[in-house]
Amino acid sequence: MKKVLVLGEISDHHLRNVSFETIAAAKTIAGDGEIVALLIGETVQSLSDEMIHYGADRVITVEDEQLKNYTSDGYTQALGNVIETEKPEGIIFAHTALGKDLAPRLASKLGTGLISDVTGIEQQEDTIIFTRPIYSGKAFEKKVIKEGIAFATIRPNNIEPLKKNEDRTGEVTVNNVEIKDLRTRIKEIIRNSTDGVDLSEAKVVIAGGRGVKSEEGFEPLNELANVLGGAVGASRGACDAEYCDYALQIGQTGKVVTPDLYIACGISGAIQHLAGMSNSKTIVAINKDPEANIFNVADYGIVGDLFEVVPLLTEEFKKLKV
Ligand code: FAD
Repeated sequence: MKKVLVLGEISDHHLRNVSFETIAAAKTIAGDGEIVALLIGETVQSLSDEMIHYGADRVITVEDEQLKNYTSDGYTQALGNVIETEKPEGIIFAHTALGKDLAPRLASKLGTGLISDVTGIEQQEDTIIFTRPIYSGKAFEKKVIKEGIAFATIRPNNIEPLKKNEDRTGEVTVNNVEIKDLRTRIKEIIRNSTDGVDLSEAKVVIAGGRGVKSEEGFEPLNELANVLGGAVGASRGACDAEYCDYALQIGQTGKVVTPDLYIACGISGAIQHLAGMSNSKTIVAINKDPEANIFNVADYGIVGDLFEVVPLLTEEFKKLKV
């Protein structure tokens, strides 16, 4: 019976959707075994039931005012203690800013391997196979962990959460870890003006490139994103031109997104941009240049001026919503 530990990610007192995806990933490894969810923060107890409703068998909470905001050494202390007592055979984190920072640190502390940015997990007989993209998403590799803890981070929006069942119950325990000698202290969090739907978890992304031509040029994209309940992203070209914040950058050196719908507006489709979005489920490209490379990865292409096409799409989607 395998025991797999997952870390619930909390943002503004809510569990991020990817937390439920980690439970689904853990299920493939645990089979009939146990999924233990860990929640870390200042006050997190109230979120335990939701983790159980999505498939966790048991929840452990670590609460401390020093854990109010994420710090790598605070979370490493909290996790280290739980892992020592629980001795899980598998650990799954989300491949988010938090997971990317914490997982390698923890793996090194535990002396174990780590498979990062996993987009699929399957079981073949006794072997768990992890799939992850390589060469900027141009190919996929399959990896197995031969010994030690099966430790992986999963890319958001790739593994479907298990069906929510509000009748599920499970044990919730408090772990009293003494958090001490933190080397990092968060003094202030300055929120970015791009807050709204989280780009890396959004089901719909409207991305603008250098073709939007100015900061104001993003306005039609914002309107379309609002109508579709999506998030706005950008190419590095648009960020470099100071049309938008770098927090919106999608690509090899930006965020990786895998929404159900990706609408690229005025983006040429450089390989470094494709690295961050080519696994989106449906890609629509709007570009004036019929030869633009973005059309090679698009499911639907519209050759035209984005300033004409995007408002038309917004109007049509508005009609569908009425
Ligand atoms: P352009 O290539 O200039 O394309 C603009 C497009 O807009 C053109 O195709 C044009 O036809 C179209 N257009 C213009 N006006 C209109 C209009 N009115 N209507 C419709 N279409 C219009 N890039 C990323 O995006 N993400 C990354 O993470 C990233 N990382 C990089 C890392 C490295 C090491 C390097 C070297 C580069 C990286 N780049 C990255 C940059 C990348 O190579 C491209 O330069 C960049 O993606 C181009 O952005 P763009 O498509 O917006 O601009």
